[in-house]
Amino acid sequence: IEPLDVERIREEYPVLQREFDGEQVVYLDNAATTQTPDRVVDTIADYYRQTNANVHRGLHQLSQEASIAYEDAHDRVAEFIGASGEREEIVFTKNTTESENLVAYAWGLNELGPEDEIVLTEMEHHASLVTWQQIAKKTGATCRYIRVQEDGTLDMDHARELVGDDTAMVSVVHVSNTLGTVNPVSELADIAHDHDAYVFVDGAQSVPNRPVDVEAIDADFFAFSGHKMAGPTGIGVLYGKKHLLEEMEPYLYGGSMIKKVTYEDSKWNDLPWKFEAGTPPICQGIALAEACDYLDDIGMERIQHHEEQLADYAVERLEDEGDVEVYGPPAGEKRGGLVSFNVESVHAHDLSSILNDSAVAIRAGDHCTQPLHDKLGVAASARASFYVYNTREEVDKLVEAVDDARQLFA
Ligand code: PMP
Repeated sequence: IEPLDVERIREEYPVLQREFDGEQVVYLDNAATTQTPDRVVDTIADYYRQTNANVHRGLHQLSQEASIAYEDAHDRVAEFIGASGEREEIVFTKNTTESENLVAYAWGLNELGPEDEIVLTEMEHHASLVTWQQIAKKTGATCRYIRVQEDGTLDMDHARELVGDDTAMVSVVHVSNTLGTVNPVSELADIAHDHDAYVFVDGAQSVPNRPVDVEAIDADFFAFSGHKMAGPTGIGVLYGKKHLLEEMEPYLYGGSMIKKVTYEDSKWNDLPWKFEAGTPPICQGIALAEACDYLDDIGMERIQHHEEQLADYAVERLEDEGDVEVYGPPAGEKRGGLVSFNVESVHAHDLSSILNDSAVAIRAGDHCTQPLHDKLGVAASARASFYVYNTREEVDKLVEAVDDARQLFA
């Protein structure tokens, strides 16, 4: 696999040149939000400078141009994740969280009852965990959790035990935003489908960082966010198999999602507009399509390889220090491009704030996986996460800054 030309890539990110107290920023918080390359920023600026108009409705030229670009963006995103149903299978939402809620409300609330079970994993992000937990409370359904083993991988025997004829939905995170674990989602989809259950994959940490083919996985639903993949905030994606989206009730009501309205009743618009009520994230959708072009131009396999090498190097270097506990799978095994850890003598929040003094940006906290942190026996962890513009030298700076923190607290 041909390595990335990181130096050239970095030229498209002026923010990476910023300095704090003379130190150039080392941005390692990419699992939270990635930086935005110039060409995506230009797409946003050009849209507002040259086109800006509401979509679907207008007959004037600007509205027509905006509509075509916005609608085409759905096809581009479909292509990016291997959805052959094109725009009909791609709903633009606000973020991964809203995509989860859309399915939970539009499908779950209508279909689930006291006899049904929802199977999740112990490493779910709150976006899916809290959502299904609360829908279960409303419907009387029960949530069950596939066990996470010592090495940070899922206990697949436990998965096969839990998923049964009462299972209606299996909702799993593709790549854990805390452990970095890459879960066997296609195997889990097979298990779910053997029991006539649907599978929802949270791809917030996979689509930005590795090639993803939703049809090869055989996911029924799949969600991710624009702001973690070189795109803007304010846009997320819900992929759903066409026949499922067709059967589902709308989640939000209002303009654009209807075909015919009388004082008594309404008829819904075609897919995917049935699920996009009101004025949608027009500029964000167009910019997300540009981000897909950008990532494809670099190549998703090369991106995956680059990030995994950085993560492996970070795990090795951090584990060299006897007092660092790294969570998740060992280097080189089923790990995506992020590393969560704790240093024995330094609280994760203190660590993050001391690293900030060296302009090293990482995240500290529970990363929206509180129950998993409870299971790990810690309240918080530090997390470094990588993207296309990160370098080995930046990993070295991270490790040096961790050394400084250790000395402060020794
Ligand atoms: N799932 C996972 C695995 C995530 O990492 C995140 C973002 N931290 C989300 C869901 C939620 O994404 P958003 O905040 O964009 O809705």
